[in-house]
Amino acid sequence: MARVYNFSAGPSMLPEEVLKKAAAEMLDYEGSGQSVMEMSHRSKVYDKIIKDAEALLRELMNIPDNYKVLFLQGGASTQFAAIPLNFMNGSGKADYVVSGQWSNKAYKEATKYGDVKIVATSKEQNFSCVPEMDKNEFRPDADYFYICMNETVHGNIIRDLPDTGDVPLIADISSCFLSEPIDVSKFGMLYGGAQKNVAPAGLTICIIREDLLGNAREMTPTMLDYKVMADNDSLYNTPPCYTIYICKLVLEWLKDLGGLEAMKARNEKKAKLLYDFLDNSKMFKGTVVPKDRSLMNVPFVTDSEELNAKFVKEATEAGLVNIKGHRSVGGMRASIYNAMPYEGVEKLVKFMADFEAANS
Ligand SMILES: *Cc1c(COP(=O)(O)O)cnc(C)c1O
Repeated sequence: MARVYNFSAGPSMLPEEVLKKAAAEMLDYEGSGQSVMEMSHRSKVYDKIIKDAEALLRELMNIPDNYKVLFLQGGASTQFAAIPLNFMNGSGKADYVVSGQWSNKAYKEATKYGDVKIVATSKEQNFSCVPEMDKNEFRPDADYFYICMNETVHGNIIRDLPDTGDVPLIADISSCFLSEPIDVSKFGMLYGGAQKNVAPAGLTICIIREDLLGNAREMTPTMLDYKVMADNDSLYNTPPCYTIYICKLVLEWLKDLGGLEAMKARNEKKAKLLYDFLDNSKMFKGTVVPKDRSLMNVPFVTDSEELNAKFVKEATEAGLVNIKGHRSVGGMRASIYNAMPYEGVEKLVKFMADFEAANS
């Protein structure tokens, strides 16, 4: 059986080693006589899985002790509402940077709950860059300040964190989770859906500074109250057990290959190969300004819709799948997350060069 190179923005590729290990353990997990899919989430054997997953995540991301790690359901999108419900509890104000589709969705959801201000946006530039941030626009009495670090659809990344003073900085890191080291202590909360870089769909990981917990609005659904989830070690109700188990295997894989510094070096090497090709091509062009380019999501276009469609079709036939751009942007997008091997990007670049030669 030939496996394809899957450039999907998510759910996305998982490391082959992880899939093989999961397959080997499918029917009998460590002599328990059951699959992890079948286990009680309150059993001793499962307790070790979820605790090990948390410990590994803490180790790899160097998460300080005064942060809680939550394994939740509902996707990143559910947090768009949970964040204002939990944290918009002082002045009722929150500041948002809108740098692409995902931060825009989060902003829109938050407007249901209070006084939400867009303090910077690159909408006029079609999100081809990260916006300039003018500190004078930030509100010192805001309850939190929100960014989407890596915009999955538009392919930009915020590298210079805004200086928000005492206002807690909250970041959606769904599509750059574990792709490189990050200084957790600079944030009030980091969170993301796992299906891009960490695990299959169904798991959302939230990393929250302890002192921010416990002030959710009265109306907050119990399931969205981070304090309740923290007090119950993510076991208030049934967690996505199997997905957390795969997450643990991915974290072990990451640790074995050298952790986040090593992952970053691999990701930079992969992205450079593709961006260098785009910068030298006469047919294909990257859509994001070089300084704000994501290492994970690489949107690109030709100047013809017809050629775009032909490229996507022929790439798919060659085993380079899910490379069509997001429906809101068009063109192409190669998502090259942690599990995409270097050879996958090499194959893509070679295919693009051949396509360019054959069609110009
Ligand atoms: C995919 C994605 C989301 C949405 O995640 P769901 O888990 O599908 O809700 C939100 N933010 C970013 C940056 C994403 O890439």
